[in-house]
Amino acid sequence: MTTTPSAPITVIGGGLAGSECAYQLSRLGHDVVLREMKPHKRSPAHKSDALGELVCSNSLRSDNPQSAIGMLHAELRRVGSLILGAADLHRVPAGDALAVEREGFAREIEGSLRRGRVTIVGGEVTALPEGTVVIATGPLTSPALTDALAPLVGEKLYFYDAIAPIVSGDSVDLSIAWRASRYDKGGDDYLNLPMDKEQYLAFVQALRAGEKVKPHEFEEPRYFEGCLPIEVMAERGDEVLAFGPMKPVGLVDPRTGKRAHAVVQLRMEDRAGTAWNLVGFQTRLTWPEQKRIFGMIPGLQAAEWVRMGQIHRNTFIDSPRLLASDLSLKREPRLFFAGQISGVEGYVESAACGYLVALSVHARLTGTTFTPPPGTTALGALYRHVTGEAHPPDAPYQPTNVVFALYPSLEGKKLKKADKRVAYAERGGRDFDRWAPLAPHPVAPRPVPAPPVVPVSAAPGAPATHS
Ligand SMILES: Cc1cc2nc3c(=O)[nH]c(=O)nc-3n(C[C@H](O)[C@H](O)[C@H](O)COP(=O)(O)OP(=O)(O)OC[C@H]3O[C@@H](n4cnc5c(N)ncnc54)[C@H](O)[C@@H]3O)c2cc1C
Repeated sequence: MTTTPSAPITVIGGGLAGSECAYQLSRLGHDVVLREMKPHKRSPAHKSDALGELVCSNSLRSDNPQSAIGMLHAELRRVGSLILGAADLHRVPAGDALAVEREGFAREIEGSLRRGRVTIVGGEVTALPEGTVVIATGPLTSPALTDALAPLVGEKLYFYDAIAPIVSGDSVDLSIAWRASRYDKGGDDYLNLPMDKEQYLAFVQALRAGEKVKPHEFEEPRYFEGCLPIEVMAERGDEVLAFGPMKPVGLVDPRTGKRAHAVVQLRMEDRAGTAWNLVGFQTRLTWPEQKRIFGMIPGLQAAEWVRMGQIHRNTFIDSPRLLASDLSLKREPRLFFAGQISGVEGYVESAACGYLVALSVHARLTGTTFTPPPGTTALGALYRHVTGEAHPPDAPYQPTNVVFALYPSLEGKKLKKADKRVAYAERGGRDFDRWAPLAPHPVAPRPVPAPPVVPVSAAPGAPATHS
């Protein structure tokens, strides 16, 4: 089948990847039909009718440009990403993380799409449409479409993720909870709930003994290591949580002046602080058990739950073996895959993948060359992951967030961890600058880093102090 440049491109799925992809294609001059099954049908995790819905945490993770995810933020800002732009406009305080007020964020996305050359069509897609198609239906692709894809992509792959509960702000006991970020990084953005050793060990015991949602008989739970359910962590040892999501370091309880044995952190879901999520508390405990066991946390005895934690299935294809270097399906090159279904993990990574696919579809339809950013950039590292370049040839393909392990290693002398981050960021920034003229759209210049704050005592001419 041939596709004329004027035929609209179909993007299936209006999540993070599909919205970004549709927006970028529209910006590059293409007509797009964005087909989203909401509001007619929703996956078990999607709760709103909005496009670009954040199904779990409202955090797009660290904005520090010397982290792999922070580099990805920076690059997406430079290429004019819809998702990063909306996040920046609807940011809520969360330390060095980029967290958003989700309704405003989603409204922004839909508004931008509607102002472009994108026609949004509601309803589940159950068979593959004609023409050029981008499949961006995410980890919870509807069963009918999964079945339609199965003959093309072979074995269905899946593992399990679990989502964290959300509590209403006014039900948290503020005589116990105090506001602070670890080591004061980011001010007082988190609410902290302390536990002494006895309370903590009783809590760990309760997590282990609590009733869990059972997977179907034919499904063997396989968790992503970066998003383990809290009860699975509790099973791994008494102190695993106290060294993990409940680590008390960098936090002093103002009531006692001491560090607690463990701390539960709550992160703001909206700017007004009406809802807070329990950081790292993704779980597959049954809902009544969550209410009982999380009610043992000091400060949450009278908690009102806005949403309980859940277990969910994640669907993805074996991209390195199935996709060509332009991210289209080798067996049927008119089909492209973007977002979590292609094996990236995370909101921002999914949006980034939607961006890369838009560049590739544009190149195909205009007869130009698709040149992804180099592997030393965050976008290029994700491309290396999806195409298999970042992994040994026989390694089983697993979804991943953007991490430095996906980048080509740094040459030269051994560096300390902090210096390595700086080196990755500098090398990526330089290589991104070199790639920028090859993009089919303008790329913003690299932001000039803010000058370091010079302490008054060190400023030229300031009197020396000994304090
Ligand atoms: C429960 C859960 C919790 C998660 N928590 C986090 C988190 O906290 N942080 C994080 O960074 N990542 C998280 N993820 C991982 C993931 O990166 C996000 O799910 C991200 O939204 C994926 O983006 P996407 O665009 O690929 O898919 P989605 O954002 O899920 O978008 C896919 C869209 O396709 C639609 N769709 C599905 N099937 C069809 C069909 N047949 N026809 C038409 N439309 C269809 C869906 O309704 C949906 O709107 C979570 C995933 C899940 C499932």
